[in-house]
Amino acid sequence: MICLNCGKDIGMGNKFCPNCGKPTTIADKENVGTIIVKRENKYVGSLINFDVFIDGEKVGKLGNGKTLTYDMPLGSYDVKLSAPGNNVVREVDLTVKNRTVEITIVCKMGMVTGKPYVKSVEYK
Ligand SMILES: [Zn+2]
Repeated sequence: MICLNCGKDIGMGNKFCPNCGKPTTIADKENVGTIIVKRENKYVGSLINFDVFIDGEKVGKLGNGKTLTYDMPLGSYDVKLSAPGNNVVREVDLTVKNRTVEITIVCKMGMVTGKPYVKSVEYK
């Protein structure tokens, strides 16, 4: 299977390209939604990057004040943010009426011991 985004041969069975991180399952533009994971810029936890997982697959790292965007086929997904010792998971539903969901993450705890929590989940 060839990644539609970066063109690498990525074998079979991957929902996300191991090379570029983009989803491999988008069939057509009619059935695509967007998951936005946004992290507020805070001094607290600023040195910690959160690992982002969608349906158990690691898809990126979320630094302080950064935003990651994933175009996905419509459907339900578990979005997990992970820091050492702490996880938060939200299930999101991308539908024809709610194609875009923005999850805003804030960091608690100390500068080097960040703990992610979900401030808001907003459908647009
Ligand atoms: Zn790729």
